[in-house]
This record gives sequence, C-alpha cells and structure tokens, in this order.
Amino acid sequence: MASNSDNYAITDTNNSGGGSIGKKNTMSRFTNLFPSGKKKAEYKPDISYPSDFKHDIHVGFDPTTGEFSGMPAEWKVMLQNAGIDKQEQGKNPETVISVLKFYNSQNINTKTYTEKYMSTQTPEHHYQAPPIIDSTLKATAIPEVPPRPSSTKQKPAPVIAMKPTPPPKLPEVPEKKSQAKTAATSDHHPPAANDSNPDVLRSKSSSKGKMSDQEVLVKLRGIVSVGDPTKKYIPNQEIGKGASGTVITAMELSSGNEVAIKQMNLASQPKKELIINEIIVMKENKQTNIVNYLDSYLVTEELWVVMEYLQGGSLTDVVTETILEEPQIAAICRECLQALHFLHSRNVIHRDIKSDNVLLGMDGQVKITDFGFCAQITPEQTKRRTMVGTPYWMAPEVVTRKQYGTKVDIWSLGIMTIEMIEGEPPYLNENPLRALYLIATYGTPKINNPEKLSPDLRDFLAKSLEMDSNIRPSAEELLRHPFVRKAGPLSSLTRNIVAAKKSLKKS
Ligand code: ATP
Repeated sequence: MASNSDNYAITDTNNSGGGSIGKKNTMSRFTNLFPSGKKKAEYKPDISYPSDFKHDIHVGFDPTTGEFSGMPAEWKVMLQNAGIDKQEQGKNPETVISVLKFYNSQNINTKTYTEKYMSTQTPEHHYQAPPIIDSTLKATAIPEVPPRPSSTKQKPAPVIAMKPTPPPKLPEVPEKKSQAKTAATSDHHPPAANDSNPDVLRSKSSSKGKMSDQEVLVKLRGIVSVGDPTKKYIPNQEIGKGASGTVITAMELSSGNEVAIKQMNLASQPKKELIINEIIVMKENKQTNIVNYLDSYLVTEELWVVMEYLQGGSLTDVVTETILEEPQIAAICRECLQALHFLHSRNVIHRDIKSDNVLLGMDGQVKITDFGFCAQITPEQTKRRTMVGTPYWMAPEVVTRKQYGTKVDIWSLGIMTIEMIEGEPPYLNENPLRALYLIATYGTPKINNPEKLSPDLRDFLAKSLEMDSNIRPSAEELLRHPFVRKAGPLSSLTRNIVAAKKSLKKS
C-alpha cells in the first residue's frame, strides 16, 4: 500500500445536471461531429437530460500499483473507450482525472458519444472527398486553387462549457516544476465568486445562478428593439441551422442591404444566458473583424438577431476544401489578431476561436463570430477557470483547469493556423477525451512536414503555441510578427472561397 504521500485525491462535488452546461452548444458541436451527409439539425445527440442530483467523487491514484481508487465504473469505461491506456494513465493521472471530471460534468451518454464520434474518426469510416472538380474550376475565370487531396471533411468537435469546481486539492503529489509553479499561482488567485457559476454573463445576476425564464425575458426586453422586424426586413433564404436556431438572409428595406438573421425559439433554448451573452458582446464590441450586430427583436416566442451577412461562409469550408498559401494564411491571422486585440483590450476573452467561428466575405473579409462563450474579465480579475471551448482548440491551461486569461485565444489561433496548413487541428482523429489528455500531456503539438513551412510561419506557430501563457505573446505583439507582416491581399482569398463552395456543392 502506498503511503499517503504517494497518493492524491481529487474531490469533485459537482452538480452534474445537464442544466449546468451549455446544452445548446454541446448539442450544436455534437451535430458538427457528424458531417457524413447529415445536416446538423438531423442529428439528435443522445445526451442525458438535466437531473438535479449531486454527487461526490473522490478519486485517488496509487503510483506503485498504477491503479485509481474510487473511480466510478463509468469513468473507467470512458477511459477505455478513449484509448487512454494504463501506461498513459500512470504517466499523468492528474490530467486523466481532470479530463474525466470534465466529461462527467457534461452529463453525456459516453458510450453513444464515443461510438458516434469514433465512427467518423476510424479510417474505414473517413469520408473520402471526391476528386475536386478540376473541370468546373477550370471553366471559371477564377485562378485555380489547389484542392486538399483527401479531406476528412470533419467538422469541429463539441463546444463544451463546464461548471467550474473548486480547485482540486493535490497536496501530496510530487509535481513537475511547471505544475508546481502554476499551482502556486492558483493559490494566489482563488476563483472569483463568479466562477462558481456558468461565467457567461456580464450581468451581475449570473452570480446568483441560472436565470429564470422571466428574468431572461426582462433582460432581453431591455436589449432588443421594439417593433415588427418583418416591416424592416424581407426574409430571403435559409443559410443554415445551428442548435439554437435558424439563420436566414433577408433584405433591409431601407438600405437594400443583405443581412443575416438568426431566429431562435426561446422556449426551446436550454441555456438562454448564452444567447443573452452573445447579443451583449456583439452589441458592445463592434469592430471590422467581428461579425457586427445590427439589431434584435422579440417576435412572439422567437428572438431574432440581425447581423452582417458574410456570404463567403466559414473558414472551415476553405481549410477543408482548398490549400491556402502562406500569404493568405498570414492575412487571415492578421485579421483575426486584429479582432482579438480589440476584444482583449476590452477585457473580453472569446474562448472558442476556431475556423468554424471565422466567417468570410466574398471579397476576402475575415470576421470572428459566435460570442456565446465570451468571458468578461476585469483589470482586477483577469483570470478564469471554467473549462470552455472546443477540445481540439483548447489551450493546455484550460484543459488542465488552471487559471487562464486572454492568451487562450492566442493558443486557439495557433491551432487554427494548423487547420489552415493541414486542413484540420491536431488530434482530430483522436477521441476528444484522449485529445484533451494529449494536449495536457504533450502541450505544443507537432506539425507534419514542418520543413515545408517558411521559418517565419514556423516561428509564428511556436510562439502562438507556447505552453507557458506568460511567455505566449499577446495579439498586439503577434500583429508585429514577421509572418503576419507577409500577409497577402484579402482579395486573394476569393478564389479559395469560390473553389470551396463549388467543391462542397458538388460533393
Ligand atoms: P449555435 O450558435 O446555434 O450553436 P452554430 O454556431 O453552429 O450554432 P449558427 O450560428 O446558428 O450555427 O449558424 C448556422 C449557419 O449559418 C452556419 O453555417 C454559419 O456559418 C451560418 N452563419 C451564421 N451567421 C452568419 C452570418 N452572419 N453570415 C453568414 N453566415 C452565417
């Protein structure tokens, strides 16, 4: 039996009811996982429904036997399904428990999740992209764009919001130096009161817990415009469906401009706070590289959010369907960094930077969207602890549930840069639980064929994917990086956007 000093225990007293997480987004990202011909709205994820139970979990690890004690059976199954073997478990038991706690907090039906997820990941199930439309492309006047040879056509993994738990007690475990350092930092910055709740709202009312439907309506009435939007906008066509609603295009009668309107049925939103958060952040933070909020309305049971329309679609389509050249990648990075610099200077952390959340104009405009998970920090409270984001894009400090700040967006931008180079983020073929483990264990991911990249791009990746968030540069600093200075014209993106659209249409 190992001595006390060889063991550690993590106590997780956690309301794991589904109501504590962003089910809207969980569902949304789950649907994103199943690209093989299924539309988002068609896939009904098998997620347990909210239950108001509490549970206490005390898990210990004995390094001499390599066994966990007190681990729930379902967690063991999760580990097995994720392919995290005994050796890996022993190598980094804290991380294993950390990511398991995260999954547990999602209240996900693990088996279904893993099976469905893995069904898109195993090689035999990979969607094979048809050869890309050479003839169609050549028939246009648009310069040829190298297609991605065999895109896996994978969509990003779930966005996950985790209700934070108190800092785990890890008193007796011998820590690596870097971990010890972070732990010490954490000790000096205990989680803010706000961190005991889903930290999605600026509103102080969030600190009291989940908003009632009535509170939500009152809050929304204070934000939206009064009047009938159908008198101002003529609906046109549906662009797409997210878990929270449908996005349509419409024409603004007064200007003739095309706009996008997100129509959300309020009654069916399990996490209305996220929507309010999104509107508030969009309304208060207008900038060229942010999808700009124009207006919002309450229409009977629905909330309509009117915003700029970005006809080019998402960056995901471009990275999965076409190959971007370095000056194009640099241009996209620069635009995103401008948005991040703006947000960070206003103490807003986006927390879900990835190609899905970058929309493009046909002329090559680049704009960040999806502000549901933004966090407002203050000069006094610059760190968060909630695990939020999409697994593959998550910074190590988020995965390991350390205190984190604006630099998490820089890490995610680094991962998004890998998407632009390779077509997908690192570990996308791994089960997301294992991906979290790999991020936490190995940190900065390796890129395939780095010799094909310019030294400037390699350095940009190394800097944005720096493990130590204190050393990782800010958005402002990266805007001065030599790679970003190599940015080509935004108009050069048009050919890739067009090619991606054609490729997707054909497939
Ligand atoms: P949710 O936010 O509900 O979790 P989501 O982020 O996956 O879902 P939505 O934001 O609802 O999706 O968007 C649905 C579709 O509409 C996506 O394909 C998205 O790229 C597109 N879209 C959203 N906003 C705009 C916009 N302003 N201009 C152009 N396309 C948009």
